[in-house]
This record gives sequence, structure tokens and C-alpha cells, in this order.
Amino acid sequence: MTTHKDLIDRDRKVTFHASTHLRDFAHGDAPGRVITGGKGIHIVDKDGREFIDGFAGLYCVNIGYGRTEVAEAIYQQALEMAYYHTYVGHSNEPQIALSEKILELAGPGMSKIYYGLGGSDANETQLKIVRYYNNVLGRPQKKKVISRQRGYHGSGLATGSLTGLKAFHDQFDLPMAGILHTEAPYYYHRAAEQEGMTEREFSKHCAQKLEEMILAEGPDTVAAFIGEPVLGTGGIVPPPEGYWDEIQAVLAKYDVLLIADEVVCGFGRIGADFGSHLYGIKPDLITVAKGLTSAYQPLSGVIVGDRVWSVLEQGTGEYGPIGHGWTYSGHALGCAAGLANLAIIEREGLTQNAAETGAYLQNRLQAAFGDHPIVGNVRGVGMLAALEFSADPALRRHFDPSLKVGPRVAAAALEENLIARAMPQGDILGFAPPLTTTRAEVDEIVARAERAVGKVTDALVREGAL
Ligand code: PMP
Repeated sequence: MTTHKDLIDRDRKVTFHASTHLRDFAHGDAPGRVITGGKGIHIVDKDGREFIDGFAGLYCVNIGYGRTEVAEAIYQQALEMAYYHTYVGHSNEPQIALSEKILELAGPGMSKIYYGLGGSDANETQLKIVRYYNNVLGRPQKKKVISRQRGYHGSGLATGSLTGLKAFHDQFDLPMAGILHTEAPYYYHRAAEQEGMTEREFSKHCAQKLEEMILAEGPDTVAAFIGEPVLGTGGIVPPPEGYWDEIQAVLAKYDVLLIADEVVCGFGRIGADFGSHLYGIKPDLITVAKGLTSAYQPLSGVIVGDRVWSVLEQGTGEYGPIGHGWTYSGHALGCAAGLANLAIIEREGLTQNAAETGAYLQNRLQAAFGDHPIVGNVRGVGMLAALEFSADPALRRHFDPSLKVGPRVAAAALEENLIARAMPQGDILGFAPPLTTTRAEVDEIVARAERAVGKVTDALVREGAL
């Protein structure tokens, strides 16, 4: 019988993993794990060990694991017609129905969808659309894109450049020219430095920083701004009060397009169909992935608003067919999975559950960690939450990074059979359980997290770090 260890040993020889210490993994010095199944909010490894997946994969398995209805939909579609390309006007039935459904959820002002396979390639398409748009308008110099520090938009060359995290830049000589980063809407961090600034004032400050950057670069060179409604991988940070209103006013003033990266927030994660709806964001372009299929198939989408679409259409006269396309765009199996997934979200009221049980999750985390000696900030919205650890919560003092408090808490949680994610920059533990999570399951997640944080606190005391 193949054991778990056999599988991991074979894997070490042949696979190269994301976000993994390459040498340590290949040489057996970093752990591996083979996942063999899942049901609801739980996953199981080859040893039969069961974990609560408090991060829904990479915040993507919104309907939970083991949904046979989606598997059936994919199977039926595969029997009928697994694939044909969608170039030169070819389509398939699930693609058409899924586009209709997404546009219905997105609301007025949105016109067309172009599909990809993941969030990174979708944002790559966004960047090309932004260039094409300005070329058609005869503004070839208007091409720069402003993203935010701590934003996450992918890990390709261009999309990794949009990402505002050091770990994604230093190893690859990024960011590329023409991609800039403005201040992150991270009130908790900034308020320590800027004593006494209210959230509203801080939002104005962020908008002012953006305006200064646009003016310094020259408004006729700045094409677009990209942001996640709630900062995700950069720390799970909901926007400060009034942030999006302030930002949108600046973008409108300088004719800068707004791309809402809804890869995490879209399809219910924060208790609304789109994060944009919750914060009054009126994007020109929207990026979706993850929750679109709950990861039962890889699928992403670029939703193009009327304002941009009307210009893209004009371009066809000048340039001919658009020089962009992926082999698997609009893949019939991905679209079938998307349709089945969105049907489950709707039928089971999962967006509503994300709002209600999500509020319960936020309350429970507040109650457990609001006054904890190593927790500086408890934050989140819907089924998206984070604990930020601090050596001195009153002063918002960070731990020495060499103590690796975030990863240690995540490891302690794993010992409790709870998966929560150590976010890549700062000592932050993220939670994003499936949208099906019940109150009883929230209680269990919080109880395990309490034990994990407690263990690390005790260890830090023993080490004299507190
Ligand atoms: N945008 C956001 C907001 C994301 O969180 C992610 C992935 N975590 C991406 C884009 C990139 O998606 P992918 O990993 O599917 O390429």
C-alpha cells in the first residue's frame, strides 16, 4: 500500500511547489502533505487526518468541499462537449449562461465578460484592455497603472508588479516600469504613526497621496487604478470609512479607470455578491476568479463595463480582431462548474450566510482576542477575518520579524487541526472559511485558534520575548 510518506518522497523528487523553500522541500527538510478528500469545511490527508479548513483552500472553496452536484455538472458537460475554443465567435452553452448570470449579479453598467483560468491571467487581460482602450482613444502616453502597497493581484511579471508585496518583487526584479504603488488603506498601521487621525481623515489622506502621485506622474500618463475592495493577501484589511468614495473622486477628476479586483471578495465572501456593492465602488472593470467556481475548476473572468466596452468596440474598426486570447478561455467545464456553483450559492443563501454567520465570526474573534496580550488588531468583514499580533497592543508595536510569530501561530493551529493562514507580510493570521460555515463550526474554529495563540503566547513568555 502506498503510504503518505511514500507519496511525499515521490513528490519531493518531481514537483516544485509555490511559496515553498525549494531546497528544503526537495531535500526533505520542509514538510509536505497530500490531501485526499474533503467534505464541508473539512479536508483530509493521506493519513486520514482531518483538518478544519479555516481558509477555504486559498479563500476559494466558497461552497465547501465534496459537492457532488458540481462534480455531476462537470461530468455531464464533459460527456456532451468538454472543449472547443472560443476564438472567432465560437461559444458553448455554459459560457453563455454563466456570462448572463455574472452580469445579473454584477448589476447595471457592466457589459461583457472575457474568461481566463486564474486571477493572475485575468489581471493580465485587464492591463492589456487598459492599454488598448487608451490606444483606441488616441492617448498612447496614458498607460501607467497605480496599485497599492500590500495589494495582491497575481504573480506573473505584470501582475506580480501590480502586487505590492516585497516577497513577490525582490526575487524577480519587479515591479516593471509603468506600475506604481500608492499608500495602503491600512489604518491600524498608519494610525500609530499619525497620532489622532480618524478613519475618515486617513481615507482623505490616502486619496491625497493618490492625487499627488497622479499629479507628479502627469495625469495624461496615468491610465488606471487597481484595488481589492478589501485588501486580501496583503493583510486582510477592510477599507477605512469613506475610503472608496475619496479614491473614486480623485480617479474621476483625472479620467483614470478603476479596476476592482474582486478575486477574493466576489460571489459572497464578504456578505455581498461583490465587494464593490458593499463599499459603493463603481468600477470600470472587474476581475473575478476563486469563488466563481469555488475552485472545482480553474476559471476567472474580466467583466468589462459599458464605458470601456464602447471604446473597445470602436477599436475593432482600426485594429481588426483583438490580438488577445487564451486557448482555454470560456472552457466549457469551467463554465459548467461556475453555473453549478453559483446555483448552490443562490439556493443555499450562502452570501447571506457569509453576512450573518460572518458577523458572528467577527464577534467571536473580538470576544476571544480583543484584549489578548499578543493581539493588536482583530478585523474583518463577512467570512474574511484576521488577527494581527503585536508585542505591545497598546503601542501597536510589532514583534521582531525573526520571532516569526505569525507562522508559529499558524503552525500551532495546525497542531489543533485548524488551517488558518499566516499572511506573507507581517504577523497576521487570516481566516476565510467556506461560506457554508455554521455558528457551531465558527465556535470550533475560534476555540482551536484560542488554544494555538495561547500556546505561542506561553512560548514567547518562556523565551523572554514578552
Ligand atoms: N487577485 C487577488 C485579489 C487575489 O487574491 C489573487 C490570488 N490570491 C489573485 C488576483 C491571483 O489569482 P491566481 O492565484 O488565481 O492567479
